[in-house]
Amino acid sequence: MSDIRVLKSAGDQGKSISEDANKHIENSETLFCRAIENAGGVPFQLIFGQRMGEGYFTKMGAGIKQLSGVAPEEFTEQLFQSMIEEVVPLSDDIPADLLEARKKLISGELKSYKAEILLRAPGGEKRWILDSSLPLRDESRGKVVGEFGILFDINERKQILGNLEKARMQAEESDRLKAAFLRNLPHEIRTPLNTIVGFSTLISEQENDPQRQQEFIEIITRNADYLLEIMTDVVEVSDIEAGAVKVSKDEINLNQLLERIWNRFIIKASGKNISLSYVAPAEDDQVNIITDRFKLSQILNNLVGNAVKFTREGKVEFGYSIKGDMIEFYVADTGPGISSEYHERIFSNFYQVENGSTRRYEGTGLGLPISKAYVELLGGEIWFTSQPGEGSVFYFTLPYEVVD
Ligand code: ADP
Repeated sequence: MSDIRVLKSAGDQGKSISEDANKHIENSETLFCRAIENAGGVPFQLIFGQRMGEGYFTKMGAGIKQLSGVAPEEFTEQLFQSMIEEVVPLSDDIPADLLEARKKLISGELKSYKAEILLRAPGGEKRWILDSSLPLRDESRGKVVGEFGILFDINERKQILGNLEKARMQAEESDRLKAAFLRNLPHEIRTPLNTIVGFSTLISEQENDPQRQQEFIEIITRNADYLLEIMTDVVEVSDIEAGAVKVSKDEINLNQLLERIWNRFIIKASGKNISLSYVAPAEDDQVNIITDRFKLSQILNNLVGNAVKFTREGKVEFGYSIKGDMIEFYVADTGPGISSEYHERIFSNFYQVENGSTRRYEGTGLGLPISKAYVELLGGEIWFTSQPGEGSVFYFTLPYEVVD
């Protein structure tokens, strides 16, 4: 602080400010501290103790209360150390280990210290700060006896950067999944097409065996359905991405819709030893509702389809209950369940928990994202609960709008 200069005005040229006038001006140290605090920093000065945590702050700006939740007079070095969760040094020569960094400051190897520090306040709230400090020398002994510097609140900046990074990673993953899907698409399409073409040729050779003919027809129908599903999913997802999806208002009977879904999947479920059932608790005349018929059917088709597809044996049950002005649907299965690490991602386009060579199931990875987009377009929410080995329950809500 020895080189702080008081500038003279033009009129005073050649004449120093009188000692008297100088006395009335605030102490320069106080002035600088105020300037730092005004700029959002928290100035501090720490005298080191024998060991880490045994030092004491000789100065601590009032802003520390906002940074750490602790008042300046209660803020000790020990408390500070106990709050530190993570240290990210801002240059290669600064050790992340605090004791190492201190040794380097004392030995003179480190001329300044700069690190981002994650603090956990006594109340549990976490906050990123920037510690920018310099060694404090005792000139008479020529020794470093402490440090002084400024703490800054960088929480908001860190959060923005974190969100940007997350968005970048999501965009990268989405590109990667899309590319993998496109690479795989010819194969996904060719397999059912080849089956359809092959069995269509063979069917004419089975004129004398109606049972075999029936079997072939079923294979052809199944593959044609699958092909149609892939194409519909691709068209739907590109419409959703282009914002070109319109919501129509149809009158439908919910109980009848559930029965149709049950009819659609019962043969597949029985073939896998799955008991498929649905629960329609309201009277028919209570559930003549207004919603988008196609979208609601697609959502239920996707969820019940997944439940039947991923469950090897056991039970799949779906249904609804009326909760005030919303209808809550559920689809529960006794399948493999979904580990929590995948919970956030399975609603992303093309995402499949099992992919590549380990994959045993058909699918495009578009069913859930399409369902989510449709539920939200219709004014509801979608979520699920699932644990590996304990099955899954998918839920979604829709407004309960009854036909007059
Ligand atoms: P697809 O079924 O075509 O693979 P979805 O978007 O419908 O795509 O589902 C994404 C992924 O979520 C599936 O590949 C699967 O890994 C997981 N998943 C969805 N539903 C279930 C379920 N009921 N049980 C277990 N895993 C599921």
